[in-house]
Amino acid sequence: MRFLRSLCVLCVLCGSSFSALALDREAFTITKYDLEVRLEPEQQRLGARGKITLRNDSAQPQKVVALQISASLDWRAIRAADKPLQFVSQPFVSDIDHTGALSEAIVTLPAEIKPKDSVELEIGYEGVIQLDGTRLMRVGVPEEIARHTSWDQIGRSFTAVRGAGYVAWYPITTESADFSEGNSLFEVVDRWKAREAGSEMNLKACSEPRPDRRDTVLVGEEGVGWGSSHGAVPKEFCAERRYAPLGLAAPTLVVATYQTVVNPPLSLFSFEGHEAAAAKYSAALEPVTNFVTEWFGKPTAPIAIADLADPHAAPFESGTLLLVSMAGEDTKLAGINLVHELVHSAVASPRPWVYEGLAHFAEAVYREQQGGREAALDLLGLHRSAFLDSEKEVAAASQKNVGPPLTTGQPLITTFDETYYRSKAAYVWWMLRDMVGDDALKQAIRNYRAADDTDPKYVERLLEAAAKRDLAWFFDDWVYQDRGLPDFRVQSAHLWKDDHETSEQTGNTEKPGKDVRMLTVTLENLGAVSAEVPFTVRCEASDITQRLQVRAKSTATTRVELPCIPLEIVVNDGSVPESDVTNNFYKIASQ
Ligand SMILES: [Zn+2]
Repeated sequence: MRFLRSLCVLCVLCGSSFSALALDREAFTITKYDLEVRLEPEQQRLGARGKITLRNDSAQPQKVVALQISASLDWRAIRAADKPLQFVSQPFVSDIDHTGALSEAIVTLPAEIKPKDSVELEIGYEGVIQLDGTRLMRVGVPEEIARHTSWDQIGRSFTAVRGAGYVAWYPITTESADFSEGNSLFEVVDRWKAREAGSEMNLKACSEPRPDRRDTVLVGEEGVGWGSSHGAVPKEFCAERRYAPLGLAAPTLVVATYQTVVNPPLSLFSFEGHEAAAAKYSAALEPVTNFVTEWFGKPTAPIAIADLADPHAAPFESGTLLLVSMAGEDTKLAGINLVHELVHSAVASPRPWVYEGLAHFAEAVYREQQGGREAALDLLGLHRSAFLDSEKEVAAASQKNVGPPLTTGQPLITTFDETYYRSKAAYVWWMLRDMVGDDALKQAIRNYRAADDTDPKYVERLLEAAAKRDLAWFFDDWVYQDRGLPDFRVQSAHLWKDDHETSEQTGNTEKPGKDVRMLTVTLENLGAVSAEVPFTVRCEASDITQRLQVRAKSTATTRVELPCIPLEIVVNDGSVPESDVTNNFYKIASQ
């Protein structure tokens, strides 16, 4: 991207036409939205009006802005200081919207906006939002799967429309995103989210009342219902939600005939016929709240879990609203989903890897309480493939690198890539817990304050204070930098049977018992990332597990006292994500 832009500048300098200088679609960030949206489920229509504030984040003054909304919506009015502005509306191909295209308004501003200056515009747009899997089917996703993935629509029986990255139902300013072009779509979406994370949105969503239905309109976790029994039919009924800042939330609108159970901080919205699943959530609320309170503090911020009409629809989370089908009656899933949302209710954070990472980590700890460490590691294992491939690329690049550490990859501290701030972050919190123990980690989390998290090293310092241990090496490799993943193997193992020799080697004054053997184990880390890893020496009847810190591209040696004859060594129980797990077994030659 940067390369292409510098190429463009070069063209201009070489004297080619100035018209070749393309419109900078990402020059402006929308720092504030004040929107009123009216939904008409019977017509599948949406009409919106309000104000947006645009800030010029480019280095050049800008006279033109490209405002984009979904291709199924049309611009009606764009004004500044009560005067209509000239604009040209054109289709713009981009996979950032479910239709695979945007309606772009090229707006001429009343005056040139200097870098860092802002301008406020009044806007109005309307149109329909129907089920549309175009962008997925265009790259070969079967229609059936596309429908369960790209489920956004304003529908007669069910309305659910997700924000940026799904449906551009509020204006955005982005370069074209392409699904078929490697990671281009995710790069554009992540860049957009990063630019908007500090923005503010004040949203009022209204729906027309329907005499035969008891609808609820949901904006984020805020729901307002209306039913014919409520008396005179109003013109509309509305829910309001303020996002300040927007953070990672893709603001989402829902209109549905829900049954509502409010049990603060949880509001539960489910369809008729899904009472059994809703009951699982209600039953899990108290034990899960106790678990979350013990680890993360008391959940107080409102959260909502709402039903999806399509039982096969992929679940979706927008901040403190979780949309998930309640057609099934999976008790385990209800507990896990509640854990995740209640952690959000308890811990606010401006940092994605803290906010989402802790919630996914909590799911694993909860799973461990129910089914043991292996069950927890299985749950974490589902996250591993999400970031494994991209980490392998990073590792390959840093392996070849001989100069100072590369600045490529996705450091957790700054990433807006979901696979990192959710999946990799969950592992990082789990590794920290294994290293410092439950008590120190709980103490650090309780001392965490979102408002104080302004220094990148804030979390490291909280943990170091609680654990009384230096963790800079770990944070450097796992949080502040992305150098790929470690890769462990057992380099050698040596069994000492001679009592005398053993006691000299260990410096013990007491000689070990007759049946005690000592095993010297050397672990090697072939990767560029340091970690503390567990390894297990397996005997016929028992196992012995120890932990060892192995620095990047180094070896570390330790001794294990054994009351049995060792058969094999397994390094890493799955708690440390590594690039290659095929070399983790080591057979000990029988002696
Ligand atoms: Zn979450």
